[in-house]
Amino acid sequence: MNATTETRVNAQGFPIVTCYRCAGSGEFGPRSVEGGKCFGCRGTGLCVKRGKAAKAWVAYVEAHRAFRETTPVQVEVGQRIAKYRGDTFRTVAATRWIMGRRSAGGSTIGSGDNAVTSSLPHIEVEFTFDNGDVESWISNQLIRRAGAVDVAPFLTLAGV
Ligand SMILES: [Zn+2]
Repeated sequence: MNATTETRVNAQGFPIVTCYRCAGSGEFGPRSVEGGKCFGCRGTGLCVKRGKAAKAWVAYVEAHRAFRETTPVQVEVGQRIAKYRGDTFRTVAATRWIMGRRSAGGSTIGSGDNAVTSSLPHIEVEFTFDNGDVESWISNQLIRRAGAVDVAPFLTLAGV
């Protein structure tokens, strides 16, 4: 294949070109904003090709995000999930719905961004993980699921 006709693609297979915004330098705008990093390519100097490829890429990124973000009620046995960003994914061996405890002073469940304090009854999902750990998570909190959506239909949309 001739180097000039070779199509460059990103890790997911979408065609990429030199960034339209920074012309490949990876830098755009004042140093005072994110060290001058280009927002069009996040400093890589490359971005997905304009037109149907870019549209398909945006749709893929959104579908991927929607897949990764889930809630305990949507989890099925065998899936790998994590409670917080940065947590290791663990495999669910069993699930059970339980009523959350009621406490007059309000009980706090979870920590950090996911902390929920409530004196109201609520539903929790009790997970038994394949390592034997048992934990109860609030039914509707945002959690993370391992894995990825199938990229093939999006590459078809992109015309790859
Ligand atoms: Zn750029």
